Amino acid sequence: MVPTLSQAGFVAADRVGRLGTETVFAVSAEAAALAAKGKTIYPFHLGDLNIPTAEHIVEASLKAIRDGKTTYCPNAGIAPLREALAADVGAARGVHYGVDNVAVQPGGKPVIGKFLLAVMNAGDEVLYPNPGFPIYSSLIEFFGGVALPYGYVEGADRFHLDLDGIERQITSRTRVLILNDLHNPTAAECTAEEHERLAELVLKHDLIVLCDEAYFDVRFEGASRSLVSLPGMQERCVILYTFSKKYAMTGWRLGAAIGPKPIIDIIVTLNVNWESCPNHFTQYGALVALTGDQSGPREIMARLHGRRDAALSLLNATDGIRCLVPATTFYLYPNVTGALKRLGCADHESFRRLVLDATGVSFCTRLHFGNALAGEAEYYLRLAYSGVSTSQITEGLDKLRAFVNAGGPTGPHGTPEEKRR
Ligand code: PLP
Repeated sequence: MVPTLSQAGFVAADRVGRLGTETVFAVSAEAAALAAKGKTIYPFHLGDLNIPTAEHIVEASLKAIRDGKTTYCPNAGIAPLREALAADVGAARGVHYGVDNVAVQPGGKPVIGKFLLAVMNAGDEVLYPNPGFPIYSSLIEFFGGVALPYGYVEGADRFHLDLDGIERQITSRTRVLILNDLHNPTAAECTAEEHERLAELVLKHDLIVLCDEAYFDVRFEGASRSLVSLPGMQERCVILYTFSKKYAMTGWRLGAAIGPKPIIDIIVTLNVNWESCPNHFTQYGALVALTGDQSGPREIMARLHGRRDAALSLLNATDGIRCLVPATTFYLYPNVTGALKRLGCADHESFRRLVLDATGVSFCTRLHFGNALAGEAEYYLRLAYSGVSTSQITEGLDKLRAFVNAGGPTGPHGTPEEKRR
């Protein structure tokens, strides 16, 4: 008998021990398993959209396949798409980009790893948001960097990043800042003053910045701002752009790195080494997405707006839950500290499982976006409403409300005053 790899004593490479993951996908798999057994699930866990890609985008890609765009293409992506991205992203941020500033990618996510490989040496410190997209710390550590988390503070009407925490942690080894304005999961975005302070820090400490702007165009009111618009920042910032969210194209896997030519040139060489080039024919769909009729993204935003408001009104009618009104992203990040107490839950995970079993409402918690930071005393959930219809939102969150308001299966826990609420 030939021994299996593990019988033969296979040991993975050392670096694999430092590789993280997105535990959100495990919640998704758990919910899918429950649904397969016949349980009604209200899927608030994944930042995917249940809205189809607009027909003209699909048609342009199908035509590209028929036209023979089934070969390799330039390593950095097709020139018309790079030009369109440079024009669109530059205009929205009040800066000029040219074709050489753009490297098309198979999704926004690959920009994170390629950026880090291009700018970070082993032992360099990288500031990253926590709570935040879990891939940042995973790849910083995988590539031998030192991940320094900075947090967010819940204010009266918005979350804001802990600028003091950022400043406090900077040392002579700090090389990179990862900034996710229009933040997943809190929807926080910097004010003009916060951007100014950040820009000062970046210049003073000679930092390079990854501006993860995956949600830059996903907003209900106001206008998005980018750090790149401030003097001196365009030369130090690489933008993570994605078609996933704005155009409901998550499964197309299309995005771009946009930034200073010396870094983009390295990222293009990484393209050569990784995938040779992005998928050829989907780029023609992306080109039409950017340059064609924009009623699709407007309709997506209108639908998301209705969902956001439906979810907010039920969450805020639930005892022990309070949720700020986000102007951007398709996530809600309610504070559920009171609800945990009401249900007698000691931690995030026991609350998540209790509610999932009792109501079918499936969501992630703060801990799917990094380990709690020192001193963090409040409990939060992240609900993505991009993949749930308004009627499902209403049905599911009404069940959640009834369950929590009743105090769970055994009635309210906590002090007499908390029980009366
Ligand atoms: N950055 C953030 C903050 C995200 O939330 C996501 C996806 O959820 C991404 C990047 C990557 O998205 P994609 O790879 O689909 O472009």
